[in-house]
Amino acid sequence: MRTIEHFNFDNKKALIRVDFNVPQDENFDVTDTSRIEAAKPTIIKVLEDGGSAVLMSHLGRPKGQRNDEMSLRHICKTVSDVLGVQVKFVPDCVGEAAEKAVAEMEMGEVILLENLRFHAEEEKGDENFAEQLSKLGDIYINDAFGTAHRAHASTTIVAKFFPERKCFGYLLAQEIEAIEKVMRTGEKPVLAILGGAKVSSKITIIENILDKVDHLIIGGGMTFTFVKAQGGKVGDSICEDDKMELALDILKQAKEKGVEVHIPVDVLAANAFANDADTKVVDVSQIPDGWQGLDAGPKTLENFKEVILKSRTILWNGPVGVFEIESFAKGTIAVGNYIDEATKNGAFSLVGGGDSVSAVKQFGFEHKVSYVSTGGGAMLESLEGKTLPGIAAIMQD
Ligand code: AMP
Repeated sequence: MRTIEHFNFDNKKALIRVDFNVPQDENFDVTDTSRIEAAKPTIIKVLEDGGSAVLMSHLGRPKGQRNDEMSLRHICKTVSDVLGVQVKFVPDCVGEAAEKAVAEMEMGEVILLENLRFHAEEEKGDENFAEQLSKLGDIYINDAFGTAHRAHASTTIVAKFFPERKCFGYLLAQEIEAIEKVMRTGEKPVLAILGGAKVSSKITIIENILDKVDHLIIGGGMTFTFVKAQGGKVGDSICEDDKMELALDILKQAKEKGVEVHIPVDVLAANAFANDADTKVVDVSQIPDGWQGLDAGPKTLENFKEVILKSRTILWNGPVGVFEIESFAKGTIAVGNYIDEATKNGAFSLVGGGDSVSAVKQFGFEHKVSYVSTGGGAMLESLEGKTLPGIAAIMQD
């Protein structure tokens, strides 16, 4: 893997694709700086080597139009504060202004270019636009995992103008390594915990992951499609009747591949989708009409605990209950605690893709697991076994 570690940036201008698509309040103040902090090690390495950094990012969805509300100008001060370096803002990402600013830049300096998506060519992956961007640096670094699944000009196409002068930043390299551990190099037994609402949104992941794991825990709303397919009564629980055959096929494939599948045996059922609903623990295949399973039950959690604690590599994608509602968050919190314990015992744990990251942050597990992925869609596509264009572009010459 060609990472930033293989380069020395002394007297070099690094063109760095970062993901500064940060949340802001109504005054445009950044409300969560984690994405900026995540890019910091890469930027600091360039500066400490004696180079300078040209940062490019998108923010929001301006759809090819200039829109002051989505200007990166608003976040420049926060970027300066996080990096501890005065960052200069340039009001365009290509053309004369950008080229002049880069030409005048001294080593040790950092420039932040205006929102890439003010130009429609960015998302189109336009080659001329990518070539213009490529004039703004000697070495190209991609450190934006969140957009690595997009073949945009700044994430993918620009790389072709840097033969042998391109690499992954620290963040992107870490993401790739974490996925590799789950998919290929991790210590066995390997466990995937897949939760969330629907089988249909996870099907490609499940099919891909069956070749990589020893154990598969299925939780959350997906459970009921599997239970009903096997003849159980799921009451008013979320269920995709048209995916029942698929569910049976997954179980068959798992058996053939020697993957042990762990499905809930009991659930916390409620008579309404509300925090103050009446609740009771019932057998997962005997949920009465008028009741819906909204969280994992106690026996299920015992079973999950046993599997999690004996696993050495753990992937967690998707909550095992409706964690947004306090009454149904306990199962997801328990799973987080078991993963914490497994991690303390030396297992490698990766949390990634969609809602599991917000659950992990909400309940304070962020620093208790080995790695939390920064890219929702990019992580999901990696787990589906797809080659991400932004990653492939750095690998090729
Ligand atoms: P996903 O984005 O596919 O990971 O799905 C996450 C969503 O699944 C969360 O919003 C949860 O509230 C929801 N979810 C988890 N368990 C259940 C359940 N038993 N019934 C309905 N929704 C669920």
